[in-house]
Amino acid sequence: MAKEQTLVTFAEIDISACAPARDLLFETMAISLPSSTLRGKALLDQVSIQHLPKVLLHEHLDGGLRPSTVIELAKENGYKGLPTENASDLAAWFHRGAQRGNLPEYLEGFLHTTSVMQTAESLERVAFEFIEDMYHDGVIYAEVRFAPVFHTEGMLTQDEVVAAVVRGLERGEKQYGVQWGLIICAMRHMQQSVEAAELAIRHREIGVVGFDLAGGEHGFPPKKHVEAFQAIERANFYITIHAGEAYGPASIWQALQYCGAHRLGHATRLRDDIEISADGTMQLGKLAQYVLDRRVPLEMCLLSNLHTGACSSLEEHPFGIFFRRGFRVCLNTDDRLMSDTSMTQETTLATELFDLSLNDLEKLSLNAMKSAFSSFDRRLEIIFKRIKPQFAEVRARMDGPPV
Ligand SMILES: [Zn+2]
Repeated sequence: MAKEQTLVTFAEIDISACAPARDLLFETMAISLPSSTLRGKALLDQVSIQHLPKVLLHEHLDGGLRPSTVIELAKENGYKGLPTENASDLAAWFHRGAQRGNLPEYLEGFLHTTSVMQTAESLERVAFEFIEDMYHDGVIYAEVRFAPVFHTEGMLTQDEVVAAVVRGLERGEKQYGVQWGLIICAMRHMQQSVEAAELAIRHREIGVVGFDLAGGEHGFPPKKHVEAFQAIERANFYITIHAGEAYGPASIWQALQYCGAHRLGHATRLRDDIEISADGTMQLGKLAQYVLDRRVPLEMCLLSNLHTGACSSLEEHPFGIFFRRGFRVCLNTDDRLMSDTSMTQETTLATELFDLSLNDLEKLSLNAMKSAFSSFDRRLEIIFKRIKPQFAEVRARMDGPPV
């Protein structure tokens, strides 16, 4: 019944924060076909993906800096390690570095971004710009993650690091209306995962919404950090784990059954637990069936998976299979700087590659919002006051008045 109680008419909704985006959206439309018939490229011709309401759950704060910001912060902080001080050359350097086909090499670029994020001012700036970028990308709710342990080479404690990031996110929300949640990452190859879990729990009242395990999977199984996950569970808090990106279904299984993950980062290799017959019939293994039945959210990242070698081509990315079979999938950016991407880019790619319709795109935003670590009431509010009305308005504009 909560759904009915939350429903409001469009006239009652305050969409002032997203009005510029909405107006731009309709400027791009010159519609003749019913919205329900358009898919793939035909849909892309009619709708501005940038201005549809999108939800992002998997992005690394230190993987999404603007190249110009990296250069400016390096100058301010006396960091001499950048390969170039030209913004477009630096962007190209990050993109080249990320496209070498394996996760450890993909992660090299983070040495530079974390090196320029060692002061409260730089952390706050990067967090603020993250929200600003989300606004321009048409993202209305975003969860961003990072590992505070990499930001204490200056004078800051991990608590001060988190506080600085929260200040930037709050300032961004105030200016742009993009709502957010912060996820604290522990690293697979490091020992301090319990400390990271306690840090996350300590800051939940100011915007931390969950805990993640990140870093190279191979040789670092998630169950080695089970004590940290148990601390999170005892605090009735939330867990997402990078799993099934660089390692197979065993990593996903451990994340779920040893570590209590509520969501999975990537889960690309869950494809290994699905057999597809020549006639297209899918046979799910026990793990894939569990993930489907339990509605475990899969935070999928198309371009990042291509760049790290988690999939050999975008056409072969299992997103399409998972989506068609009804898994709770959503689209994400992972690292906008390294993978030269955005939510608009990921959504455009998915629309074209997997022949998605406007209803499918709404489903993806709803999947993500339902899976967010924010409160139930907040999720309902965003779903019923922003996502559904905005998609309904797009549909109404496309279909016009009844003949
Ligand atoms: Zn990630």
